[in-house]
Amino acid sequence: MKSKQSCRFCSGTAMISFVDLGLTPLSNSFISKQKALSYETFYPLHAYVCPACRLVQLEQFESPQHIFNDYVYFSSYSDSWLRHAQRYADDMSAAFALDSRSKVVEIASNDGYLLQYFLEKGVDVLGIEPAGNVAAAAIEKGIPTVIDFFGCALARKLVRRHAADLLIGNNVLAHVPDLNDFVAGLKLMLKDGGVITMEFPHLLQLMRHNQFDTIYHEHFSYFSFLTVQRVFAKFDLTIFDAEELPTHGGSLRIYAKHRDDGTKPAADRVERITRKELQFGLDSMQTYLAFSEQVKQTKRNILRRLIGLKNEGSSLAGYGAPAKGNTLLNYCGIGKDFIDYVVDKNPYKQQMLLPGTRIPVAPPERLQETKPDYVIIMPWNLKEEIIGQTAYIRQWGGKWLTLIPEVAVIS
Ligand SMILES: [Zn+2]
Repeated sequence: MKSKQSCRFCSGTAMISFVDLGLTPLSNSFISKQKALSYETFYPLHAYVCPACRLVQLEQFESPQHIFNDYVYFSSYSDSWLRHAQRYADDMSAAFALDSRSKVVEIASNDGYLLQYFLEKGVDVLGIEPAGNVAAAAIEKGIPTVIDFFGCALARKLVRRHAADLLIGNNVLAHVPDLNDFVAGLKLMLKDGGVITMEFPHLLQLMRHNQFDTIYHEHFSYFSFLTVQRVFAKFDLTIFDAEELPTHGGSLRIYAKHRDDGTKPAADRVERITRKELQFGLDSMQTYLAFSEQVKQTKRNILRRLIGLKNEGSSLAGYGAPAKGNTLLNYCGIGKDFIDYVVDKNPYKQQMLLPGTRIPVAPPERLQETKPDYVIIMPWNLKEEIIGQTAYIRQWGGKWLTLIPEVAVIS
């Protein structure tokens, strides 16, 4: 099946189906209980791969303004994410000798969860964050933040006062509808001799570990290392190092510089990660075409297990209301008929209903009140942390379930 769209990077028009996850609402559009009787808009969630540049991508249905306004995601609510941020600030400050004369700029700086650690070190920082309510939380912490979307236009406006020694984008590259304008903007914002680091979920891990639930409408592009190198090269940026990180089930952190910056030799890791992707077959279309059947089989396996548990009379609750959980529940058709409620630590999500399935979100204390037999961990990437925080479910013989890469019971 062909898509009408053309490739967001190379404009190729021969797009091939990668995986069709049916119709789903925007995964962060939680429904307030007052609107429980209203309709909501569903969009096709169908990822395509461009055979010319191998960029896996979704069509854009809504403007980023619509999607990211009053975004309910506050980074500071995850303990392990904060530890990751602090370690990053320590490592980068040491590696690139950042001090009070340096400028660190973060795109999609959220509530300042990362820049706060640079600020503590006396480094000059600037955040760029399009969601007004989230940016306000950063400004309250004393982190100067521009409320806008990043691209060439904003880069031209900011570069005179804020050219970056370190330009950061964590989990933003994948969320950018106009990829070329964004990367061209990175080139403009970067000081001579400066470094860009970007983190994004690694397509290799998505495919290898069956993480189809990380596909959702707000997430437009899915990058392999092979493809992201191409994207940066088009704008005279060279990726000179890369790291594989465990975050989000397997992310890449890339390090880029101006092409004519001769001071940063290519690290061995560039060659190593490239080789890994070639061994997996990411240069072959056959590898991409096989993914879809793997996802359908996973859906059948998940449903078979959950139907079995319900038929035994077990009660099920969920832990966490992340975007990926909403993809999984909507694609698999798992609603209130399986899961009584999900709990989430984020007070913005409590008292809301999940988009599509309308499963209610409650505070974590609800688990102790109703004592469910099984707690499904929706953000499987935070499994260890969540098991630690909910160890009390063992008191009543409760067990945890994870559904990705396949169904697993943890007791
Ligand atoms: Zn392409």
